[in-house]
Amino acid sequence: MYTFDYQRPASTAAAAAAFQGETRYLAGGQSLVQAMKLRLSSSERLVDLGGIAELKGITVEPGKVTIGAMTTHAAVANSAEVRKALPALAELTGGIGDPAVRNMGTIGGSIANADPAACYPAAVLGLGATVITNQRQIPGDGFFTGLYETALKPGELITAVSFPVPQRAAYIKYKQPASRFALVGVFVAQTAGGVRVAVTGAAGSVFRCQPIEAALAKSFTPEAAKAVKVSADGLNADLHASAAYRAAMISVMASRAVVAALAR
Ligand SMILES: Cc1cc2nc3c(=O)[nH]c(=O)nc-3n(C[C@H](O)[C@H](O)[C@H](O)COP(=O)(O)OP(=O)(O)OC[C@H]3O[C@@H](n4cnc5c(N)ncnc54)[C@H](O)[C@@H]3O)c2cc1C
Repeated sequence: MYTFDYQRPASTAAAAAAFQGETRYLAGGQSLVQAMKLRLSSSERLVDLGGIAELKGITVEPGKVTIGAMTTHAAVANSAEVRKALPALAELTGGIGDPAVRNMGTIGGSIANADPAACYPAAVLGLGATVITNQRQIPGDGFFTGLYETALKPGELITAVSFPVPQRAAYIKYKQPASRFALVGVFVAQTAGGVRVAVTGAAGSVFRCQPIEAALAKSFTPEAAKAVKVSADGLNADLHASAAYRAAMISVMASRAVVAALAR
């Protein structure tokens, strides 16, 4: 690890003011600290968001669940309010990594990191969430722009994420057994604006799967999802799975997510 300056401000405004030059925000450190230890990432300064109370917490209102950026995965998974209003999100967070990761990792860090196999991005896209920053509101459909890339500008700080409550939703992932990240994860939601299907783990970035969305819009059944033959073009191929295998798993995971959504 390279040497760096460390600051721990007490407000969002002070954190943004401390972001000067080669700076990074530090949330749960579950991705960033490992990258720094491996010398894959170096920063002159870390601005630790852990002392900012206004970034933590969950607000459930009619039709909307808003989660502060520094809220941990465990807090979301264990929230009785989230489990009631948006059970798919509570289950998704309960399946992230292991207890240590869930107790440290945060929603803001997860979506800012935009790991192509992370779970939260599938919920952001699958529900059409809004990412709230200290500068603006970014629609979920435009937030993830590529491999570890987002629409965030340098120094822009995520303060919260607001999820509309769907009629039904579920997330199912086929785990990479060592890391527990998604080899393929599919979030399916029936919303006021139609069916949304978001896929993580299969490509360089989370994406919506229009062929399955169209099939489920006609018939919201597991059979309809499973019958879709997803193209393997552009999907990841590595030692864990070929592109063709991932393509097949998208339909299978989508059909299982529909079963779970219908069971609510
Ligand atoms: C063993 C292991 C297993 C895991 N398994 C899974 C899994 O199954 N599913 C899954 O989804 N994830 C998984 N993760 C990742 C985990 O969810 C982390 O929480 C996530 O990658 C990063 O969140 P963090 O809060 O630790 O952020 P950090 O590591 O602190 O930061 C990550 C990045 O986000 C930036 N950042 C942080 N907060 C903000 C903010 N508020 N505004 C702007 N930028 C910000 C940082 O500058 C940094 O670039 C796993 C991690 C580990 C170590």
